Amino acid sequence: MPVSGKTLAGMKNSSWIRQMFEAGAILKQELGPENVFDMSIGNPVTEPPPEFIRQLAGITANPQPGMHRYMPNAGYPHAREAVARQLRTDYQLKIQVEDIVMTCGAAGAINVVLKTILNPGEEVIVFSPYFPEYLSYIDNHGGIPRIVGTGDNFMPDAGELSTVINTSTRAVIINSPNNPSGVMYSTGCLENLGCVLAEKSRQLGRVIYLISDEPYRRLIYDGLSYPPPIHFYSETIITHSFSKDLSLPGERIGYLALSPRASDCEQLRAGLVYSNRILGFVNAPALMQNVVAELQSVTVSVEEYQKKRDYIYAELAAAGYETVKPDGAFYLFPKTPVKDDVAFVKSLMQSGVLAVPGTGFGRAGHMRLSFCVEDRVIEGAVRGLKKAMEGVYERRAGS
Ligand code: PLP
Repeated sequence: MPVSGKTLAGMKNSSWIRQMFEAGAILKQELGPENVFDMSIGNPVTEPPPEFIRQLAGITANPQPGMHRYMPNAGYPHAREAVARQLRTDYQLKIQVEDIVMTCGAAGAINVVLKTILNPGEEVIVFSPYFPEYLSYIDNHGGIPRIVGTGDNFMPDAGELSTVINTSTRAVIINSPNNPSGVMYSTGCLENLGCVLAEKSRQLGRVIYLISDEPYRRLIYDGLSYPPPIHFYSETIITHSFSKDLSLPGERIGYLALSPRASDCEQLRAGLVYSNRILGFVNAPALMQNVVAELQSVTVSVEEYQKKRDYIYAELAAAGYETVKPDGAFYLFPKTPVKDDVAFVKSLMQSGVLAVPGTGFGRAGHMRLSFCVEDRVIEGAVRGLKKAMEGVYERRAGS
């Protein structure tokens, strides 16, 4: 057998998002692509902003000697400084160039952090519903995911967190605004989480890290402002990606940022840079580091996403779907009108609609809809979702 037992098991449990993506390809052949309304994947159709195209063109038109060579594993100092400067402005903290490592997206950043901090068998707490790849990333580095549920509003509960922390807990991953729920964690929620983590770290005599995964922090609606988790706990490591706010997921560019108030930061910084190298990334893509260094305050149109959110949220509510209104990101996570979310999502495929069952995010009875797609797709999906809801009402009336 060419593939290890562990990999084979991982492949069998392969993410629902991927499975729906593959089911979508088959459905497109059967129904024709124009009749498939794929809201299963967070791969934005929005093009990168014009500033990105200009910057890229400028750099490639004036090639500098050595611009495609290896650079220090942490990234170009000027790119790291640009990120640090923006974070100082955004978060009012003394984040320095040394606190930044340029990475291959947020996925790369999280793997680098976990590789650096985890001893075999240590636990990493993840709140459900969660971004499913977290579980694989934790397993990649010998850790054990510990899932903690959230209430109807999807906000983590500090009391609940405090009951599961134990001598094996090494880190907690949070993600605000959240994939899949779109919920942004409130100041009160983050304050409470920070207090519990500080208290438990003190009690246990070891640092519990907070990994704040923030790829959607610039995609926030209704003029809300973002409470940065790093304000509420000193042992925080931020992971970020430009996949969503600059629409560059294929370019694999992001960073990690260490809190300037973290303890033992000399050793931690050195560990993070070492892990970035030995995981095989070596460094983040050189060309993209040069481009994003100049685009730290640029974002795709948040208004466009907000329009999409407003439309689909209103339509779903009118059809009878129960949904927490997303504050940010580009996902909705409505309750499915029947308990079995997998069966419901399968039934949607009859109308050409592709969603992802909540089960794939550790929260059954829901489904995720990605609205980073063309309006035509959202409109088609809304038609299918309404039809499916009518079918449920009819069956209920008939039984
Ligand atoms: N974290 C979250 C919450 C995500 O939604 C994603 C991608 O969808 C990632 C991390 C990985 O981002 P990237 O592909 O930019 O590395």
